Amino acid sequence: MSQQSPVVVIVGGGFGGLAAARALKKAPVEVILIDRNNHHLFQPLLYQVATSVLAPGQIGSPIRSILRNNENTTVILGDVTGVDTAARNIFVSDADRTGVPISYDYLILATGVQHSYFGHDEFEKYAPGLKSLADAVAIRNKILRAFEQAEAEEDPSRHKELLTFVLVGAGPTGVEMASAIAVMVRGSLKREFRRIDPTSARIVLVDMATRPLGTFAPELSEAAKRRLTRLGVEVRLGHGVDLIDEQGAVVEGERISSKTVIWAAGVAPSPAGKWLNTETDRAGRVRVKGDLTVPNHPEIFVIGDTASLDQDGKPLPGVAQVAMQQGRYTGNLIHRGVAGKPSPSPFRYFDKGNLAVVGKGFAILQSGKVRLSGFPAWVVWVAVHLEFLAQSSLRVSVFVQWVWTYVTGQRGSRLIVKHHGD
Ligand SMILES: Cc1cc2nc3c(=O)[nH]c(=O)nc-3n(C[C@H](O)[C@H](O)[C@H](O)COP(=O)(O)OP(=O)(O)OC[C@H]3O[C@@H](n4cnc5c(N)ncnc54)[C@H](O)[C@@H]3O)c2cc1C
Repeated sequence: MSQQSPVVVIVGGGFGGLAAARALKKAPVEVILIDRNNHHLFQPLLYQVATSVLAPGQIGSPIRSILRNNENTTVILGDVTGVDTAARNIFVSDADRTGVPISYDYLILATGVQHSYFGHDEFEKYAPGLKSLADAVAIRNKILRAFEQAEAEEDPSRHKELLTFVLVGAGPTGVEMASAIAVMVRGSLKREFRRIDPTSARIVLVDMATRPLGTFAPELSEAAKRRLTRLGVEVRLGHGVDLIDEQGAVVEGERISSKTVIWAAGVAPSPAGKWLNTETDRAGRVRVKGDLTVPNHPEIFVIGDTASLDQDGKPLPGVAQVAMQQGRYTGNLIHRGVAGKPSPSPFRYFDKGNLAVVGKGFAILQSGKVRLSGFPAWVVWVAVHLEFLAQSSLRVSVFVQWVWTYVTGQRGSRLIVKHHGD
């Protein structure tokens, strides 16, 4: 690598950042990818870690291992805390240093989103959200511990609150979690307890929207709702939670006593908009131009969940496909630029379709005019998720685990893992 190679700094090794790094593999540039975690995380399967199907190591891979063949790329573990757009520096903090500057010629911000409690941050203490592996393990601990506590509890009047699970948000995460808990209580847990009946667990899914999985066509939402009901999930729509505290949640004035409330409702973007001091949309995502750059900064790109771009009058959704396509586009654009080739036409998202799983052997699929629900959609769901896992070793291990779980009902990782300080 020559001293003069332009430096491309990528912040975030999620779907967008990784796709950009991969697209720059053969470009005559020096790539520095910085992430606060040492691993790329396959977030669509986080709920399976939270519900004990998969182990954390099956949905995450070290970023430096994924990019080991990208000889122009250095991976750095660190937390980016700001950008000086005039000096073209970003600032990185790690275990024992704060605000270390790193210079860039091109900057790609792909920092994703974080939880949002819609102004009720006090809910967070009682209702953890699902965004990282640590969150998934904490939720897994919480769910498994509720059954253990109920088995140990002599007073049957306390069983009800211990065996009531409330999920706030009926988007894909809430629906997938609720149905996975329902399958778990009727499957692997059913015969293992003596004092309690795990199948008596109450699972409540709450959303202020009037149908679950609202980004899908109404008939698919309806199919998902029927399936949830058949699995024993209580679907309460049209009203959000009024309150969440240590006793549970209050919905439409009714107190639902529960030791396990899980937040699957809102997300807020990373602070990239503040770092750049640029225009954001109402949700706080950075408004980007058609080539995914920030106005007045042709050298700064914002992609994935952190970016806001309208296509055909509608904002692009915060999904993995958008992030990956934007990452590839940005990497190619920079590669062409340094090679002296003209820029490509503005970014256009190609929507391959959406999938959501509702319990064992059932999913919904919407792709163009195709609408499918049931087992065939579930087979597509399995194939797509295996395809997009970051490494072949994960594909093999997840596939074997799914076959085992499907056939035997047994889950792969039902451990309560205590951390120091728990
Ligand atoms: C539970 C859950 C389920 C989902 N299910 C689906 C699904 O089924 N289908 C689908 O298409 N999408 C799904 N999504 C959404 C999908 O995961 C996101 O759209 C996608 O991850 C966005 O990619 P990204 O690159 O923008 O951000 P991310 O993949 O979130 O990556 C952001 C990266 O930036 C790093 N980072 C953040 N801030 C900093 C910082 N300050 N310094 C250093 N590093 C930083 C993070 O550690 C992370 O690695 C789901 C999301 C969640 C949370």
